[in-house]
This record gives sequence, structure tokens and C-alpha cells, in this order.
Amino acid sequence: MQSHRWIDFALGLAAFVVLVAAFFACDDYVRAHTPLPIRLYNATSAESEIIKSHIDKIYYIARSRISILAIVESIDGISSGQCYGNTDSNSSVIIIERRYLGTSVIWHEVMHAHINNLPERVLTEWSELGNRPPYLDDGWRAELSNPYPNQGLVSAYGRKNIHEDIASWGEAIYAKLNNFRSPLDRPLDESNPIYGKILAWFFKWQFISRAQYDELRSKLL
Ligand SMILES: [Zn+2]
Repeated sequence: MQSHRWIDFALGLAAFVVLVAAFFACDDYVRAHTPLPIRLYNATSAESEIIKSHIDKIYYIARSRISILAIVESIDGISSGQCYGNTDSNSSVIIIERRYLGTSVIWHEVMHAHINNLPERVLTEWSELGNRPPYLDDGWRAELSNPYPNQGLVSAYGRKNIHEDIASWGEAIYAKLNNFRSPLDRPLDESNPIYGKILAWFFKWQFISRAQYDELRSKLL
């Protein structure tokens, strides 16, 4: 009789472990498939569908940083989109110029929104991934004809500052994952270890899922 009690206990424990695991797996699934709590402004229903299909591609933790997305006819300067941190709600407001809807610009702005909500050390870690050319503030415009990716930078615009560097990388990553034209269509210098470190950084800080990380590694490295 004594041994039966142990077997019952072991079976009960196993069932409990399975239930807990199922609960967490289910929780992940539900969060990944729950409609976004994002308010859209000035978007037609067709445009709303385009926005949703783009945002749905982003790992749910990164995309949960947005509270409002507004479409505007034009933005001053060279910008196709903007991202503003909202300190009241720890979330960000994104503005997209209407003619850029359906391009990778939404992914770029959501990357900014995620960065806004990460601790400062994330930027320190990024700057310590390896040697890269210095940022150029406005000087990046002179670089436009240079071939990228190059020395860990993914675009001339990414050479502007650390925020644009990361957002340009995230945009290029999501473009690559979704078969949009991407700077990452061009071959990387595989002898430079920085590319592997950059992908690992994006995974570590929850810009991309494990499955997306694995897919990128198999496509790029
Ligand atoms: Zn940007």
C-alpha cells in the first residue's frame, strides 16, 4: 500500500507539472494572438488592415509598446515616420506618413518604441558589441552611396546615431523576415563576429522571438 501512495503522488506531481507548463504555453499563445490594444487615428478600414498585418509580424513584447498610431498626410523634413515616448503610460505614439503605409517604416518606428521602454544599459551593450565606424549626426548624408551592410552598420541613415542605428537594423531584420526588400539581402561579411552578436542582442532584448532569431541566423550567417 505504501508504494501505491508514492505512485499516486508521483502521478499527481507529473500531472501538476504538465498543467503548469500548459498554462504558461497557453498564456504565451493568447498574448501572441490577442488583438492589439492600439488606437488608430485617421486610418481607413483598408489602411487599418495594412497596419495590423505589419504590426502582427512583430514579436508581441516589442509591439506591445505602442498605444497610438496616427496617419498623417505629411511630416516636415525627410521623415516618413516618427515615434514619441508617452511617459504617462510607458508606451509610445507613432505617426506614419500616409504614402509610406505598407512599407517597412512601421517596423522602424516600433523598434524606436521598444527602445524607449528598455533600460539604459541596453544601449551600452549595443555600443560594446564590437568596433564600428563612429556615428556622424548629419554627416551620414554624405555616406548614401556607400554599400551597406558594412562594418556592422546596416544603412547610411543608421550611421546618424545609436537610436537610428538600432531602428534601422530592426527595420532591416523585419523586412528580411517578411520578404520585403532589405539591406540584409546583400551578403554579410561573415568573418566579422559583430553580425552574430547583433542578432543575439535583438533576441536577448525581445525585439524578435526565438523562432525569428533562428530563422535569421540560418538565412544570414
Ligand atoms: Zn528612426
